Amino acid sequence: MKHRRILPVLVILGAVVLALTVRSAAVEKPARNSITATNTFTAADYAQHVMKLKKKIPGDEFTVVIQRPFVVIGDESPAMVRRRAEGTVKWAVDRLKAAYFTKDPNEILDIWLFKDEASYRKHAKSIFNHEPDTPYGYFSHTEKALIMNIRSGGGTLVHEIVHPLVASNFPGCPAWFNEGLGSLYEQSRSRNGQIVGLTNWRLDGLQDAIRRRKVPSFRTLCSTTDHQFYRKDPGTNYAQARYLCYYLQEHNLLRKYYHAFHANHKRDPTGYNTLKKILGREDMATFKKDWYAYVMKLRFP
Ligand SMILES: [Zn+2]
Repeated sequence: MKHRRILPVLVILGAVVLALTVRSAAVEKPARNSITATNTFTAADYAQHVMKLKKKIPGDEFTVVIQRPFVVIGDESPAMVRRRAEGTVKWAVDRLKAAYFTKDPNEILDIWLFKDEASYRKHAKSIFNHEPDTPYGYFSHTEKALIMNIRSGGGTLVHEIVHPLVASNFPGCPAWFNEGLGSLYEQSRSRNGQIVGLTNWRLDGLQDAIRRRKVPSFRTLCSTTDHQFYRKDPGTNYAQARYLCYYLQEHNLLRKYYHAFHANHKRDPTGYNTLKKILGREDMATFKKDWYAYVMKLRFP
């Protein structure tokens, strides 16, 4: 994300299913350090930010909601903008912080929620002079903004919210894990109060690549540089990373892995050795076969 001005995000087929509780054996314990989240910016900082922001807002149809650590701006009805700020942004941020993150993003970021594709394209051009190459939404590093067509669902939004939190909490986190987490939560729900990713549209292509034996080893995935991950993607990078995270989640290992990787990342910058340790697997070729079998049994929807 940080190496690109605009990060295109991909199609999300389902809206995020919120606040539903399902019974499951695979509920992860909250991280030990989950209660220490800090706000870096004061109310005055937000007020000043909103004053500047208002100069960019093109019309009366926009509602601004301060939803720390973000500011949400939308041209749906005021009630709907507030509902998205509370029901999607706050919902996701609270649960992601409980699981992983103690620090807010390093800057106040704006989340623009345009009501449909026409509004999104029109305003991306008029406010930011962007011509998006995706109909769904993207993060603009220069504008410090998530710019979304919210008609396409809340999933892309949750995916994009993960990245600034990773950036402030886990500097040096490799793209494969950053995108694995982001894409895991693009289809998510609450399970016993905790955020969990569900199977999604990325499964089909991954199962197809597994059938064709086209999925790289985990050593290869973990060792990708950001450039290799984004630009030399054999077509499986996001899905492989997502369903590795999904596998870890369903085996109660994802939070453990995040915190172990974060703690060890100077010694193990790719996360591969930590992965072997958390999985308790020395033989990763055999693990890959087991993971293949696991993924092939998954279903979406
Ligand atoms: Zn992403």
